[in-house]
Amino acid sequence: MANKRDYYEVLGVSKGASDDEIKKAYRQAAKKYHPDLNPDNKEAEAKFKEVNEAYEVLSDKDKRARYDQFGHAGVDPSYGGGAGGGSPFGVDMDFGDIFSSVFGGFGGFGGRRNANPNAPRRGADVETSVTISFDEAAKGCKKEISYNSVVTCTECGGSGAQKGTSPKTCSVCGGRGQVMVNQRTPFGVVQTSRVCDACKGTGKVIENPCKACSGNGRVKKNRKIEINIPAGINDEQMLNVSGQGSSGTNGGPAGDVHVYVNVRPHQIFDRRGDDVWCELPITFAQAAMGAEVVVPTIDGKVSYNVHEGTQPGDVFKLKGKGIPHINGRGRGDQYVKVTVEVPKNLNSKQKEILKQFEAATTDKNYAKRKGFFDVIKKLFD
Ligand SMILES: [Zn+2]
Ligand SMILES: [Zn+2]
Repeated sequence: MANKRDYYEVLGVSKGASDDEIKKAYRQAAKKYHPDLNPDNKEAEAKFKEVNEAYEVLSDKDKRARYDQFGHAGVDPSYGGGAGGGSPFGVDMDFGDIFSSVFGGFGGFGGRRNANPNAPRRGADVETSVTISFDEAAKGCKKEISYNSVVTCTECGGSGAQKGTSPKTCSVCGGRGQVMVNQRTPFGVVQTSRVCDACKGTGKVIENPCKACSGNGRVKKNRKIEINIPAGINDEQMLNVSGQGSSGTNGGPAGDVHVYVNVRPHQIFDRRGDDVWCELPITFAQAAMGAEVVVPTIDGKVSYNVHEGTQPGDVFKLKGKGIPHINGRGRGDQYVKVTVEVPKNLNSKQKEILKQFEAATTDKNYAKRKGFFDVIKKLFD
């Protein structure tokens, strides 16, 4: 797992490859390494799994986006969430579905869809969501999540048979799961096999079903677990918690939990990518003469010297004061947009001072005014 190859490299395509290019590359590689064409070739088998795994991710818009953003950690359970669990491909998986969806009616690899009902199968992935604050997203946090999943019935240990009893070998097929049928055709009697109806191909029948799970061997269960949410997570991103989804069957691994993260907006901060934006209201006098002001950041207050002659709408940047990048080192920046607040409810003394001030200023004090009135003169006088 530690030295997992890059999925694009596995398929031999570029990062910007189109869906068609990926599909084409997958078809070529899958054909080349298909077990049916390389019997008893361990290396080909490993390659076949690798290209299937790569294709499973790169052919899925969401998974590919997560992979592009977070690398293997975005899609591989053994990297994610700290919740443990094995690779979904660690056991013998049936690639029939994904394979036939790409190859369509492609002949020669038939029969994979009717996989053995007793083969290990990975449990289903389940979905849930969690809502965190702006600060929690910026700094990372631990959160309890709750979700419904299907788990192995503890009453019967998953056998589906009532406690103290066990499933019996199917008498119809003798436990083989298949029955032979003779078919009369114009060319004579042909013997074929089909899935045993009595046991649905499992080779076993349950005479006394477990009451807790009605013989399914699995029950629905609400679960709560605590997860680590990494610093830098953004609204609408999804975290994959490996191996905590629905239990697998026949010894297959559990599925994953997809946790959709909602981030509540902040009162004063706005997030754009990993940069933080905020507005800073200052007075007319501070803007005109410059001033040392207090600026809020996600780490706390910092002081900043607003320079003389600052205009409304001016933006200054606090480098490295933004949100930590989720997939590596470093942080975004903070941008502070200055607004100049015009004072209201002036008393007579204040008005008097302002009148004196106004009388003492000239066009030289203003960058735009003279030019603007010159234009008016030209147009209308
Ligand atoms: Zn049970
Ligand atoms: Zn049977």
